[in-house]
Amino acid sequence: MEDASRKARLILGLRQSGVTDNRVLSAIESVPRDMFVPQSMVSHAYDDTALPIDCGQTISQPTVVAWMTAALEVGERMKVLEIGTGSGYQAAILSKLCRRVYTIERHRALLAEAEQRFQELRLSNITSRVGDGTKGWPEQAPFDRIIVTAAAAEPPPALLDQLANGGLMVLPLGDPQGDQSLIRLRRDEQVFHRERIFGVRFVPLIEGEADVERNGCKGLKH
Ligand code: SAH
Repeated sequence: MEDASRKARLILGLRQSGVTDNRVLSAIESVPRDMFVPQSMVSHAYDDTALPIDCGQTISQPTVVAWMTAALEVGERMKVLEIGTGSGYQAAILSKLCRRVYTIERHRALLAEAEQRFQELRLSNITSRVGDGTKGWPEQAPFDRIIVTAAAAEPPPALLDQLANGGLMVLPLGDPQGDQSLIRLRRDEQVFHRERIFGVRFVPLIEGEADVERNGCKGLKH
C-alpha cells in the first residue's frame, strides 16, 4: 500500500477512536510520520503503534499523539512548550497549530536528528534545545500550553510555575516504569485542576542532560 493510503487509513482510525477536532486531524495529515521513524521501521510508519527510535526512546502511538494534541486545545496565537522532543513528530504537529513551539530534549543525538527534520520540512516556528526539561525554559515563560511526553510521578514544579494563568498542561503521570494516566491540568491562579484522560505508557522523564559519552547514541543499537 502507498504511504498516502496508509496515512488516510490512519486518519480514519483516529476519527473512529473519537478524535473529532479537524484542525488536529489535518495537522496530523500534513506531517509525514515516515520521516520521523528509523529507516528500518518505515513500513510501519502509519501503523497506530509506538515505535523505537535512537537512544532507547520511542515515538508515541498516533492515537496518543492525537488525543494529547486535542486535549491541549492549541490556538493559533499560542506559545507551546514541549518536554521530550524525541523524534520531533509531536513538535512538528504542534507547529502547524500554534505561533511557536519550544521543545527540549535531553539526548543531543536525538535533538540533532529532529532539528534536521524540522529544517527539511521548513517548520521555522520551532525553537529547540538540549537540556533538562524538568526545569522548563524560564527565559521564554509563561507558556499558554505545556506538553510533557515522558512520564513522572508528579508534575515538575518548574513547569507548573511556567504555565500561564488559564493555561493547560497535558502529561503522563504515575509509575515512570509502569502504568500511567494521561492527565490534563488547568491553571487557575495557584490552583491546578486535574482531569484524567486515559491510561498510557511512556518512557520515564529523567532529570539532567544525558551523558554525552555514554548516550551520544549514534551507532548504538537499542
Ligand atoms: N515527543 C516525542 C516522544 C519522545 S519519547 C516524539 O514525538 O517522538 C520521550 C522523550 O523524552 C525521549 O526522547 C527522552 O529522551 C526525553 N526526555 C526524558 N526526560 C527528559 C528531560 N528531563 N528533559 C528533556 N527530555 C527528556
